[in-house]
Amino acid sequence: MTTTATRPSIPAERFQQRLARACAATAEHSLDALLIGVGADLRYLTGYAAHESERLTMLVVGWAQKDAVLVVPRLEEPAARAGSHVDVRIETWSETETPTELVARLVLAQIHQHPRALKLGVSDRLWALHLLRLERALPGSAFESATPALRSLRMTKDAEEIELLRLAGAAADRVVEQIASGRLVGRTEADVAEEVHERLREEGHDVAQFAIVASGPNSASPHHGASDRVIEAGEPIVLDIGGSLDGYQSDTTRTLWVTGGDERNGPTEEFRHLFGVLLAAQQAATRAARPGVPAEAIDRAARDLIDAEGYGENFFHRTGHGIGLEGHEEPYLVAGNAEPIGTGMAFSIEPGIYLPGRYGARIEDIVVCGPDGAIVLNNASRELRVVAG
Ligand code: ZN
Ligand code: ZN
Ligand code: ZN
Repeated sequence: MTTTATRPSIPAERFQQRLARACAATAEHSLDALLIGVGADLRYLTGYAAHESERLTMLVVGWAQKDAVLVVPRLEEPAARAGSHVDVRIETWSETETPTELVARLVLAQIHQHPRALKLGVSDRLWALHLLRLERALPGSAFESATPALRSLRMTKDAEEIELLRLAGAAADRVVEQIASGRLVGRTEADVAEEVHERLREEGHDVAQFAIVASGPNSASPHHGASDRVIEAGEPIVLDIGGSLDGYQSDTTRTLWVTGGDERNGPTEEFRHLFGVLLAAQQAATRAARPGVPAEAIDRAARDLIDAEGYGENFFHRTGHGIGLEGHEEPYLVAGNAEPIGTGMAFSIEPGIYLPGRYGARIEDIVVCGPDGAIVLNNASRELRVVAG
């Protein structure tokens, strides 16, 4: 079944505002320009979802919005015009030209006689191939990450972004329900993962990005993937799935236990206990998420409970990550990150407990920080699902 919930489109004014704020941030961070290659930063600022390539595509952002230029290969000019939703000049380069020299000229044209070397912010996803050529084209310039300048924009989601995340989350929830109520025992993890991919698209994702199907001992490996292992009755399955909808990502995890229809194959006492601790920790972290709280305090809320039950060593990853146009982005919920959580930030809350070689469990929701606390975007039941499979 295809669900046709209406998707909000991000209005052109929104892209103009983002670009204006990026210009202001460039100045505030004492950068002469931002050099944004293909990736989420480019899509965020222009709407253009260019593909990664050895041919350079680059948005050059200086202090004045009117000077922003999008540099694209000549053969991709129509695609760039169609894909970009912001009023920005497009400059093309042909196959025999050196695009980094064009970028260098554009950067220097925006800057009027600087007494010092240039300081340029480059997007984190820019390939080394391009960065090394830029360094040659702009000798003596200092290159640093553009993320400190762009992070506060990207982290705080606007209304359309939140709606897209909500739609993606709801679509992923439906897939979880479908997989949990279908046949599992006797199938390989890879086969189930294939079904997850198909269903993610059927339920409204444009792209099915990943499907962790971790059964039995594999459930103790947080980033297992999906293998040729055949799922057996009497074991857990950690299902961690996600895709993207208009670029916005879903990412949710539920833990099942398959019995094969024989109740003697139900969860062990130990597993039920472990799962109860995990669920309490996940809920404590969700309650801890509110404006002004440091990111690390949300991690702490989950970890304290898990530590107290003696599973501290078995929870060896951060509690969560920001999400938006990238599956993992700022803010990261990890000890050492004192960044205060703000209204509009979207992130995962996903503690896990893993007993190596035996089994494990994880529960993951995407939440958006609202004025009074977390607004949870994944609403499939978080309980341990004991299913025939
Ligand atoms: Zn992960
Ligand atoms: Zn996940
Ligand atoms: Zn995640």
